[in-house]
Amino acid sequence: MIVTRFAPSPTGRLHLGHAYSAVFGHSRAAASGGRFLLRIEDLDQGRSRPQFVEGIIADLRWLGLEWDGEPLIQSRRGADYADALGRLRGDGLVYPCFCTRTDIAAALSAPHGPGAAHYPGTCRGLADDPGRRAAEAHSWRLDAAQALARTGLPSWSEGGRLYTSNRAGFDDVILARKDAPAAYHLACVVDDSASGVTLVTRGEDLRSSTPVQRLLQELLGLPEPRYLHHRLVAHAGGRRLAKRDQAPTLEALRGSGTGGLALAASLAAGQLPLGFELRGD
Ligand code: GLU
Repeated sequence: MIVTRFAPSPTGRLHLGHAYSAVFGHSRAAASGGRFLLRIEDLDQGRSRPQFVEGIIADLRWLGLEWDGEPLIQSRRGADYADALGRLRGDGLVYPCFCTRTDIAAALSAPHGPGAAHYPGTCRGLADDPGRRAAEAHSWRLDAAQALARTGLPSWSEGGRLYTSNRAGFDDVILARKDAPAAYHLACVVDDSASGVTLVTRGEDLRSSTPVQRLLQELLGLPEPRYLHHRLVAHAGGRRLAKRDQAPTLEALRGSGTGGLALAASLAAGQLPLGFELRGD
């Protein structure tokens, strides 16, 4: 059975790009009588707001998208993330990082696109000082080289094809930080596994996350889902949708008289409202 999920971060109102992503995942599950799950990725407590969780729920209902079971709320799942991190630490695959919060703030949100920070390895291999480590570490990073030495280069299946990553795709990603039990990649693989997700559907801007998530799945002995990365909604002419350049929220579309069910049906057929288009591979 196909199990997909929509995993928005409640840091703002959903826009057309989110609607396309939700419809994409929902229709892949519905086509086979599968399950569609909702996950609230609210680990970035500085930016997540309860009213945006309510907004997500209202917007999905407006689109006519029903999810199975209760939404999974990441901020309530710290114990499971800590357990996974503990196993990786026990295997000697994690090291503490003392770099400042500013350097690493970006890592709590999903790394969208080429702007994602590349960590230069500053704290890898620092002299061991357990006292200092426990007290002062800002974050915990995966030692990607050690991890790859254990598993080899991970591969994944997308659209019936098998892909194998190359070494260049790996960074010493942050797994957890002082004020959060997990960062995006670790929480994502732990939750996809706990919810029984079999098909990860998400935008192409998250394609670069897939190799490291497959690596973490291998290291933690988690099942391997299949992947589908979909095209992104852009303004006609190719400009990317972004909150800062007034991507229309679903709330605004609803306010201007757009019908949610009709919009969802068009998006499922790959048709975008006037002024928008799908940006290709
Ligand atoms: N929370 C992520 C986002 O807002 C999605 C993560 C995922 O689908 O893996 O884009």
